[in-house]
Amino acid sequence: MKVLVVGGAGYVGSHTVRLLLAQGHEVWVYDNLSLGHRESVPAGRLIEGNLTDRALLMQVMRDKEIEAVMHFAAYALVGESVQHPAMYYQNNVIATFELLEAMRAVGVWRFVFSSTTATYGQPETMPISEDTPQNPINPYGFTKLVVERALADYAHAYGFGVAALRYFNASGAASDASIGEDHDPESHLIPIVLQVALGQRPHISIFGTDYPTEDGTCIRDYIHVEDLATAHLAALQKLQPNSVLQMNLGTGVGHSVQQVIEACRKITGHPIPAVIGPRRAGDPACLIADSSKAQRELNWRPKYVSIESIVETAWKWHQSHPRGYSS
Ligand code: UDP
Repeated sequence: MKVLVVGGAGYVGSHTVRLLLAQGHEVWVYDNLSLGHRESVPAGRLIEGNLTDRALLMQVMRDKEIEAVMHFAAYALVGESVQHPAMYYQNNVIATFELLEAMRAVGVWRFVFSSTTATYGQPETMPISEDTPQNPINPYGFTKLVVERALADYAHAYGFGVAALRYFNASGAASDASIGEDHDPESHLIPIVLQVALGQRPHISIFGTDYPTEDGTCIRDYIHVEDLATAHLAALQKLQPNSVLQMNLGTGVGHSVQQVIEACRKITGHPIPAVIGPRRAGDPACLIADSSKAQRELNWRPKYVSIESIVETAWKWHQSHPRGYSS
């Protein structure tokens, strides 16, 4: 299939691009490189452009005879979304509508969307299934939920076939360490802990130890970025006009911040000093996926099931790229 990967120079997008190419799809990456990395895009596949440039998007989709769009271009930091909600509504909602309208204008109907566990807020029961009510507790989650709702409407009214994939915590790096996670500034737990192991930071700050969890730190479901990529390809094959797929993507196992730090100590052999800090605004205490729907309907199984195996791939990437793509 001819696939336009919007935000394909970013973390999850770049891993999905690799897999699409490996499986014989014709791939074009559309990215403004504001957060993405040119180095992560295979040669000759990058089209630089903004999500708000509807005319360019239409031209690219026509010229390249695009049959499907995967949309990864979004701001995705909970804390930042609380500080700067306008930025999030502008980019994640308003700019996404330019993309949808460009698709509608040229007749592209297949759409795979990066959604998030943040659309659920803090549910009372774990694990989270697709039937769990979506009540976001931060602007990031709201922006993704708005788009999910719009996609369902576009599917029913305009014949779009959409998949909203609700990621839990994307983590790890390509198994050959050729691409990986590189944010500036970095705010995600695993890369920051590994930067401590590399001697680039003195310690990891734990954001709150007074949550209602066993060790008081937040629990998340860490899912390997290559497993996310596999799910995207499976969802792409499943798209039908006028249909909506909504899937949780996680391992079904939760790890506390303390447990993640412990796993990193084990894999790196570094003591990794930790200091206790205040809670970060917008963080739910516990998020664990029930991914049985994706397992059933996409025939998808995460390959990386232990936190150590995930950290191991991230560690290889950070060791070989201590300054990310500019190493
Ligand atoms: N976290 C932390 N210290 C850090 C970064 C993150 O304690 O320096 C915690 C954060 O509060 C959350 C978990 O680690 O409970 C995962 O955070 P991350 O930013 O990696 O992903 P998120 O869950 O926000 O998508």
